Amino acid sequence: MGLLTPTYRLRHVFELTPQWVRREGIAALLLDVDCTLKRYRQSRLAPEVVQWCDRIRGSGVKMCLVSNGGGRRLRPLADEIALPLVALAMKPLPFGCRRALRLLGVARARAMMVGDQLFADVLAGNWAGVRTALVEPIAPEEEPWFTRLKRPLERRLLRKLPFAAQGAPEDIQDGSCRTRAAESVESFDSR
Ligand SMILES: [Mg+2]
Repeated sequence: MGLLTPTYRLRHVFELTPQWVRREGIAALLLDVDCTLKRYRQSRLAPEVVQWCDRIRGSGVKMCLVSNGGGRRLRPLADEIALPLVALAMKPLPFGCRRALRLLGVARARAMMVGDQLFADVLAGNWAGVRTALVEPIAPEEEPWFTRLKRPLERRLLRKLPFAAQGAPEDIQDGSCRTRAAESVESFDSR
């Protein structure tokens, strides 16, 4: 599987706590946007996601949004949470991740790409030489057809992978990681 194997598998970004991120020696998170931080059709981030970003940032970990979406759509969202944005990143190609590393001034060994798509985020991150975390997509039924097309093959591949490829945050290994915060994001997003 190689380039298609995520370093970690999570249900939601909330499982990435500042303590765990720092303990793993991760200095920067490269974050996919659609279906990772928000529903595809939602134009803004839920307050809980903004608070999570603030907690991560407050702990000294850098972040950059890395999306295949266009800048015109995503720039207001990035500005709202004051994060740098690499738009039109062309994932699964590695260039967008590399650009984010240059923007943040972080070595690839100390960065992690976080996203919901094996054939975009995980492949791009692994190709760029950073660690990768695959999250479950938020509201995948809203995705455009070209993304939904990839999901059945993705599910087949994922069934062959252990839940945590190389370990996961300790506090989620019992599988009870559908946090209250994650549920509230979904209810915010469905309003
Ligand atoms: Mg996505």
